[in-house]
Amino acid sequence: MSRLWQRQGRALYRPGDGTVSTDEHIVMKERIYRVLRDVFGFADFKPGQRAVIEHLTSGQDALVVMATGAGKSLCYQLPAIVRPGMGLVVSPLVALMQQQTRRLAQLGVRVACLHSGLDWREERDIESQMKAGELDLLFMSPERACSRSMQRILRGLELSLVAIDEAHCVWQWGFDFRPEYGQLRTLLDELPGVPRIALTATASPECREAIVDQLNLRQAKVFESSIDRPNLFLWMQPRKQAVEQLWTFIQSRHRNHAGIVYCQTRKQVEQTAVFLRARGLSVASYHAGLTPEQRRRTEDDFLSGDVAVIVATIAFGMGIDKPDVRFVAHMALPRSIEAYYQEIGRAGRDGKPADAWLLYGLKDLQMQLRWIQDSGAPAGRKSLERALSQRLLALALSHECRRKHLLEAFGEQATDACGHCDNCVWPIRAEDAREEAKKALSAVFRVGQGSGVGHLVRVLRGSLNRAVRERHHHELSVFGIGAEHSETWWQLFFLRLWAAGAIDFHGEHADCVRLLPACKPLLAGRVEVLFAAPRSHAVRHYTANPLHDEPVVTDIIEPLRQLRLRLAEEYGVPVYEVLNDVQMQELSRSCPQDMGALVSIPGFSKLKRDRYGPAILEVIEKYRERCRGEVQEWVRRWGDGWPDCVVDGCKEKEWTLSEFLHHVQRWATAGVSGLEVFLPDAEQLEAIENLDPMWASAWRGWLAADGLAVVERYLNTTEEKTAS
Ligand code: ADP
Ligand code: MG
Ligand code: ZN
Repeated sequence: MSRLWQRQGRALYRPGDGTVSTDEHIVMKERIYRVLRDVFGFADFKPGQRAVIEHLTSGQDALVVMATGAGKSLCYQLPAIVRPGMGLVVSPLVALMQQQTRRLAQLGVRVACLHSGLDWREERDIESQMKAGELDLLFMSPERACSRSMQRILRGLELSLVAIDEAHCVWQWGFDFRPEYGQLRTLLDELPGVPRIALTATASPECREAIVDQLNLRQAKVFESSIDRPNLFLWMQPRKQAVEQLWTFIQSRHRNHAGIVYCQTRKQVEQTAVFLRARGLSVASYHAGLTPEQRRRTEDDFLSGDVAVIVATIAFGMGIDKPDVRFVAHMALPRSIEAYYQEIGRAGRDGKPADAWLLYGLKDLQMQLRWIQDSGAPAGRKSLERALSQRLLALALSHECRRKHLLEAFGEQATDACGHCDNCVWPIRAEDAREEAKKALSAVFRVGQGSGVGHLVRVLRGSLNRAVRERHHHELSVFGIGAEHSETWWQLFFLRLWAAGAIDFHGEHADCVRLLPACKPLLAGRVEVLFAAPRSHAVRHYTANPLHDEPVVTDIIEPLRQLRLRLAEEYGVPVYEVLNDVQMQELSRSCPQDMGALVSIPGFSKLKRDRYGPAILEVIEKYRERCRGEVQEWVRRWGDGWPDCVVDGCKEKEWTLSEFLHHVQRWATAGVSGLEVFLPDAEQLEAIENLDPMWASAWRGWLAADGLAVVERYLNTTEEKTAS
């Protein structure tokens, strides 16, 4: 199928030819839309995609900075299909490439992936496909792309484009730095005139500069959309009993949801996994200590839905493109704001509500500082790393809108309050804590600069223990001057002072406090030190978020779930590649009756429709059959006298009255005939009103909203049927 596009394209676009006439432009647009619909099965572009795709298809370079889940892959996949020649995609992780390859192959695209896991025969096959011009797209690792032999082959091929995915990996100060990315320049220099595109979700100004520079993108047009992920609800709270906090969170918001829990250490991973498993969650753990085979299996289980929650170190995730991850939980602070943003980006890629939830505390900060200290990196690097975690800690301690703070860290303007983070929904007030700052810093000064936070807090709060007594610290003037605040309060306040650059943690375990020169104005009480005693989120908070309401799950969902499991097994693909959650909801809302109606389901390509369509329609028909039976039974046993018969019927069936309404809704959605008898007219509504005012208003609401539309739709289709 896609060869056809190429043959047609050949006459129009020459690689590197940036100029197209108006006519050609129209033809190009047309073709782009056709591929979008027929190959990818999308009805329209996501914001920002169209401009990039047209630009690239006409042979020009691009740098794309768009949020995770914005749909960057399509920006190179589609032009590579429309343009003549093979598209080369460089991507940093094998899992990521394999997943994309599998998906594209499913859509009928001629695609291959060169990675180190192939044997020589498989490699040879791919090479001959390349040479014979039989590929639309080829994925490979940067190492492979930079090898001399590969460059020789590539030079002799017709290439439609070169795409560098996750381009932030070129930035040597970044958390995902890949040295091989730095060598891509030689490859690109070998391929003059081939349009190139670099894509990333996170690029601070420094990082972007590095991308432009190292991939020679000076001529490239920059496409940038907000990196904001409005569907993510952001939470941050101090750590107390970490696993208990996590459990409350999962239980109140994410029962039966897929999620990722990030831990700082392997030990923490194991403990957390054991804890959650003991509470009946289906959990797998993931860290660098597992064999590649174990890791691959865990990834597969997670992707296929066999495992709901992955507890992992940061070793997990970059390649994971599971659209329906509903939460990402951090049990400790990640390394930097960039790392945090990248990691929470794995939640809610399908655009539906998801949570980014984080715990922070003194211990994890100190552990990180110790890693930086012991890393053997040059001093410049170390201070940069410290600055990076300082920025994240400042975000955690902030009392202002988290999204605003986060976006501004990436150089984006944002509104003052997003309304979709903990600080916006449950505001806390920050107080001027300059007196406390004076007290804390004086305590450090008096106690000497080799004490830990625990000791300092005891001195400040005036609590005696052996260490305090032995060192005569109860005789100091600062002893007991901070009794008005709790231990936790002071601990967090020391974090605040660190974020402000007034103190430093040093020593072998990075747990001794010393003063830094910047403490002077604070010690003198000359500057304001805003500090909000952090709230701990109660269960009430977790459930009180109206934006998080799940859509009504109708009885059709379960059979569809069963079906998708069966089809996924049959075709060896993850479940959401058969039907994702959004598509399931859509199916349950519209109950399509024929293949034509299936077209309206978003992301349902021709190929998918042909492959899965008949089975899906069969399930829906069976469901409709069941609904018909229910209605017939109802009419046979209770007739249509309103409202008495309904009340009697409900009594007998042990349905509440609102359950009855729910069933009428189901039947209507399924397109069952004969429902008119259940729809109350004005007079009957009044009778219901007398019976149960709440129920009457539920009926009214439904009839006014989608109820009538549903019934009308049904009436139209039956009219059509009787007419024909
Ligand atoms: P990114 O690389 O920007 O993080 P992806 O390319 O992985 O995002 O796409 C994210 C999701 O959006 C995928 O599930 C993809 O199928 C879907 N998607 C991409 N383009 C469209 C579109 N035009 N319409 C609907 N869904 C789309
Ligand atoms: Mg991507
Ligand atoms: Zn906010």
